[in-house]
Amino acid sequence: MRIVLSLPRAQIPDWTARFAAALPGATIDAVNGPEPDGPLPPPADYLVCWGRCATLLAAQPRLRAVFALAAGPGHLFASDPRLGREIPLVRLEDAGMAAPMFHYVLAAVLRHALDLDRYAAQAREARWQALPPRAPDRFAVGVLGLGTIGGAIARGLAAQGFAVRGWSRSAKAIDGVTAFAADALDAFLDGLDVVVGALPSTPATDGLLDARRLARLADGAAVVNVGRGRLIVDADLVALLDAGKLAHATLDVFAEEPLPAAHPFWRHPKVTVTPHVSGPTLPGPSIAQVAEKILRLERGLAVTGVVDRARGY
Ligand code: NDP
Repeated sequence: MRIVLSLPRAQIPDWTARFAAALPGATIDAVNGPEPDGPLPPPADYLVCWGRCATLLAAQPRLRAVFALAAGPGHLFASDPRLGREIPLVRLEDAGMAAPMFHYVLAAVLRHALDLDRYAAQAREARWQALPPRAPDRFAVGVLGLGTIGGAIARGLAAQGFAVRGWSRSAKAIDGVTAFAADALDAFLDGLDVVVGALPSTPATDGLLDARRLARLADGAAVVNVGRGRLIVDADLVALLDAGKLAHATLDVFAEEPLPAAHPFWRHPKVTVTPHVSGPTLPGPSIAQVAEKILRLERGLAVTGVVDRARGY
């Protein structure tokens, strides 16, 4: 069995050693990714890639599967027409990302629920004034996407006592979470104190949070996005923050990454920008998951996490 890894150069030694330990007997080649800068390796059975890998894919005639080191790799379909048709594209499922992503979202929700920004503003004026407390069970948080990541976030927020709503394409039953069907987006958004994006980027989700939909949130609501940046119409979000309709946005993902230096999010006083760090790809759990799936495929068994080309995720 031959495996080729496409990784940033600095990660190659560590990841190659870990894959070799997880799959003894496999021949493992590694190239600098996303664009290889040396000779291409011989044809492999499995390709593991981080980000785009079109050049490498084009030189691989007999791949049995491609493993993306990401939870939402739908954009890779554009790199090769065989992906999702003749060659399955397999994504990471949690692999240690869900817990830190829940913590990230919880921090943003608590910041808003506890009015920490408003108290910070009062403190700058040495103003001692209690704001009306917000009981968690009357504080509505809605999670867009109830998959591996969104489901963990919704469960975690419900365990903290928040009034949690969830929205997904197919019906979901999660204890403590009021589920909304795909055609009930407006009802899901109505009056939310915080909306959390945990959706993949697809033709159906790109631009979903536009001015009309964001206006359905409660006055002074907050937006948190850990899914994909294209979910939000940036100019509409900025306009609603400027108008005072929305209080704050905590954004980890952006339509263009790295976020261009001139983008208004960088300097907006009501926007917190983090550089796509809420769900780090952890070598240990990621390699264990990919290796286990490779071994299943070698035994002729099915694997989960195969991305559906038609759905886009
Ligand atoms: P999943 O594929 O497990 O879940 C996706 C969820 O989105 C599902 O609940 C799905 O519905 C729902 N969904 C997709 N399209 C629609 C639609 N058109 N209408 C309504 N619901 C829809 O993905 P994960 O939970 O593993 O990851 C979610 C996203 O988070 C990833 O795509 C990735 O982009 C992002 N991510 C970001 C990271 C970061 O560091 N910021 C790290 C990891 C992931 P259904 O359940 O019916 O299929």
